Amino acid sequence: MSSLVDIHNRRINYLRISITDRCNLRCHYCMPKEGVSQFGHSEVLRYEEILRLAALAVKKGITKIRITGGEPLVRRDAVQLIQQLSKLSGIQDLSMSTNGILLAEFAPALFQAGLRRVNISMDSLNAVKYRQITRGGELSRVWAGIEAAKRAGISPIKINIVAIAGFNDGEIWDFARLTMSEPYQVRFIEFMPIGISNEWSPERCLSTEESKRRIETFRPLIPLGNQKNGYDGPARLFKFPGAAGEIGFISPISDHFCDSCNRLRLTADGKLRTCLFSEEEVDVKLLLRSACSDDDLEKKLDEAIARKPLRHGVVGGVIKRCHRPMVKIGG
Ligand code: SAM
Ligand code: SF4
Repeated sequence: MSSLVDIHNRRINYLRISITDRCNLRCHYCMPKEGVSQFGHSEVLRYEEILRLAALAVKKGITKIRITGGEPLVRRDAVQLIQQLSKLSGIQDLSMSTNGILLAEFAPALFQAGLRRVNISMDSLNAVKYRQITRGGELSRVWAGIEAAKRAGISPIKINIVAIAGFNDGEIWDFARLTMSEPYQVRFIEFMPIGISNEWSPERCLSTEESKRRIETFRPLIPLGNQKNGYDGPARLFKFPGAAGEIGFISPISDHFCDSCNRLRLTADGKLRTCLFSEEEVDVKLLLRSACSDDDLEKKLDEAIARKPLRHGVVGGVIKRCHRPMVKIGG
């Protein structure tokens, strides 16, 4: 069984699995107000199909799996899927991206099922602004989710903020200072031109350099040398002297990390995608539903990896949008 190495010699060891395109929020930058047309029930991969593909991918060298969506916790029995995935021998890291709205309810069961890490999206610390960007979300529920995850033993807890000029750029310091007393990893992500929403423009993308500058006006940051080149995955890590938590910057626009990209994505409707910004997809659903052999599936995985582009479409100031909305890709 060949392992997953692409033609640019990048070893692919990270699989993001989107289990639904449904969501209980409507974040402005992720989907339009009216929502997006949803996959029909039969279009979405069943858990046994996801597990079969994941098991094969793990045999071929995937060691990290992240469950995402849409909002993964709105899909029934997501905890059971986590439990099954955690049993795959070879998985070293199993995590989830969630908006946190349902996390208070599920955190203990997720921990029991084997989930050890969670990334929670929270784009404002102000309840009114949070409700505005998510079109109706309640910030207090996200905080309750964070607290419940902490109590359950899920660690690290990463808090993701899409840094948007004109929206939350006045809150960069407030987010950063949370790390002084709490062991969170607070991560600022550059706003990306994805999907059909018209909210993105270069001016609205607050660069890592600018977010970092705003923080350092208040207090200097120490780069963390414990990860290779100061990176943890694509995040560049820092902390304040004596702080409980860490601060990360993810810079897909100003400092793309394509050279070291190790990711493969599986969408909820059974398409393999090797780059967030590429429209190229390899369908595995048809195969999974056609009594295929593991060899056939393995060939599909190899085919997808062979098509992984060297660079994404936002390199060198040229903006090539990805049209599938993020909620249907899985961030
Ligand atoms: N619903 C879950 C959540 O919000 O964490 C998981 C899915 S969501 C699509 C995954 C991540 O993608 C979130 O952190 C979200 O903020 C991020 N995201 C969505 N659209 C984005 C964009 N245009 N630029 C940067 N990040 C984006
Ligand atoms: Fe839902 Fe996550 Fe998209 Fe917000 S970013 S609309 S929570 S999928």
